[in-house]
Amino acid sequence: MSDQNRPYESKEPWRHHTTPDESGFFQPPRRAVPSEWTDSSPQEQGQPPSQPWGRPDHKPARAAEAVPAALPSSTASASRSVAPGLLNTPVETDAAAGIDLTKVYGDGETRVTALDSVNVRFTRGTFTAIMGPSGSGKSTLMHCLAGLDRITSGRVFLAGQELSNLPDAKLTTLRRDNVGFIFQSFNLLPMLTAEENILLPLDLAGRKPDAALWDQLITGLGIADRLKHRPSELSGGQQQRVACARAMITKPHVVFADEPTGALDSKSGANLLSYLRHCVDDLGQTIIMVTHDAKAASYADRVLMLLDGRIVDDITSPTAEAVNEAMAGLEG
Ligand code: ADP
Repeated sequence: MSDQNRPYESKEPWRHHTTPDESGFFQPPRRAVPSEWTDSSPQEQGQPPSQPWGRPDHKPARAAEAVPAALPSSTASASRSVAPGLLNTPVETDAAAGIDLTKVYGDGETRVTALDSVNVRFTRGTFTAIMGPSGSGKSTLMHCLAGLDRITSGRVFLAGQELSNLPDAKLTTLRRDNVGFIFQSFNLLPMLTAEENILLPLDLAGRKPDAALWDQLITGLGIADRLKHRPSELSGGQQQRVACARAMITKPHVVFADEPTGALDSKSGANLLSYLRHCVDDLGQTIIMVTHDAKAASYADRVLMLLDGRIVDDITSPTAEAVNEAMAGLEG
């Protein structure tokens, strides 16, 4: 895709910091606005999960065109009391969102507020890095957005559904159908081949792989000749590419990547990040990545900086230098 065809890329100076709007929301860069996300999920209509792999509509987002005329009434009325800004910025256009998201661990003397009224939205088809000092709440934010951890108060949306009140069984299904994970330590099952590892999430869901997507992943990740190997027979970079294919094969709404390059050499790390970037640009994938590495973060469209459970900076089109500078400001 030529740069000319990227109307969503700003011609303004390379780096921008965003400040929260009146409602406390950090506004993400609006790269693409999907049209197919309605308030009833395709699964509920007896269809397979919606297709995040089609190239997003790259028309510049103009509010009048992009925002649905009306929110589902339940969301709209609930929003009024919780986050007035939501009325102008419906979460239906987002892959994930948190509203007044608070997570407290423990109580009494051991009480820790890991997330403190975080308001954040992740537009579909964008790549976001989450950074911040150790203990700032990065993992907690990721776990809460992915439905791995219950929140203490506020609201969380994923794939068009509110997670906060979902029963455990529905949450598990929603996660299985809509979320892919890439971990620092790969987390491949040692007794399965690469191919079996990749297909495992689909097997668990009783679904068949999309042949075109399978070919695209295996070729793009360069693992066609490694499919019959077990993880112990693969290099770290190869294992992480297998894990990446496993995360993408279900066509998830969001891929959460937790320090995906943390255990890789710099060349393997750069390869993986380039592939993630390609998935966002050319396949419309949404990726949310926790990282400590400014260089890794520079592959993202946007970097959120956390400190003490709050988002304190939001950098669009980040460079490694800009991210390092922002990190130094937090740690200094
Ligand atoms: P980060 O990923 O930025 O290092 P975390 O999200 O892991 O930060 O942690 C944020 C805060 O919440 C820290 O003070 C941490 O000690 C605390 N915390 C995280 N998980 C738990 C837990 N399961 N029980 C108690 N405190 C926790």
